[in-house]
Amino acid sequence: CGIVGYVGPKTALDVVIEGLRRLEYRGYDSAGVAVVADGGLTSRKKAGKLGNLEKELAAHPLPESGLGLGHTRWATHGGPTDGNAHPHFDSTGRVAVVHNGIIENFAALREELQQAGITLASETDTEVVAHLLGQQFPGCVESHGDGALAEAMRRVCRRLDGAFTLVAVHADAPDVVVGARLNSPLVVGVGEGEAFLCSDVAGFIGHTREAIELGQAQVVEVRSNAVVITDFAGEPAAGKPFHVDWDV
Ligand code: GLU
Repeated sequence: CGIVGYVGPKTALDVVIEGLRRLEYRGYDSAGVAVVADGGLTSRKKAGKLGNLEKELAAHPLPESGLGLGHTRWATHGGPTDGNAHPHFDSTGRVAVVHNGIIENFAALREELQQAGITLASETDTEVVAHLLGQQFPGCVESHGDGALAEAMRRVCRRLDGAFTLVAVHADAPDVVVGARLNSPLVVGVGEGEAFLCSDVAGFIGHTREAIELGQAQVVEVRSNAVVITDFAGEPAAGKPFHVDWDV
């Protein structure tokens, strides 16, 4: 329901929680976060209010990191449990994804993944996306070169039907957040030496008012100082830059 991704010099977790707090008005039943640090990906997620997640984070802190993502979930597939909360991971635990919307063809994709020997950990439609992304990285992401996570996202998006805003990170790419959208909104917040990927400008309004709205069926690769947008085929594309001059 609410998505916040961050890359930059600040503590990603603080930025993400603050953004999720500003998106609370949309309603949600659970929340989760993940950060990339020390070559790994660490996550906490909890059913219920953000306060439950914050208690969990106080009891089990995450490592310091400048790259992270978070989600407030409004369950459509699978009950509002800790396990169904986002982010979701591939089997290696090195790719994390959060999702707004519904993957209409998730049952067929789930079946295909199960036949490939993959065990799904949740009841969500979202988890198939994490495993499909993971399948694009038989080795580590670095060995696939710059832009590998965005390319993986494009390949996966070409297989998805429905409505989705997706934001993903990979443990081997500690400076990149990737997003995609179809029939559901995604906005880049462009700060000075930092960037945000959110479902709604409210997610980053405390930090920057320079924004780029992604067009339909686009993928974006965001670094602290660069934003690259393509269509699902990989052709360069342009989002719609705008300045947020209203109060959110
Ligand atoms: N369909 C996904 C789920 O049930 C995402 C729901 C949402 O938009 O929060 O987990």
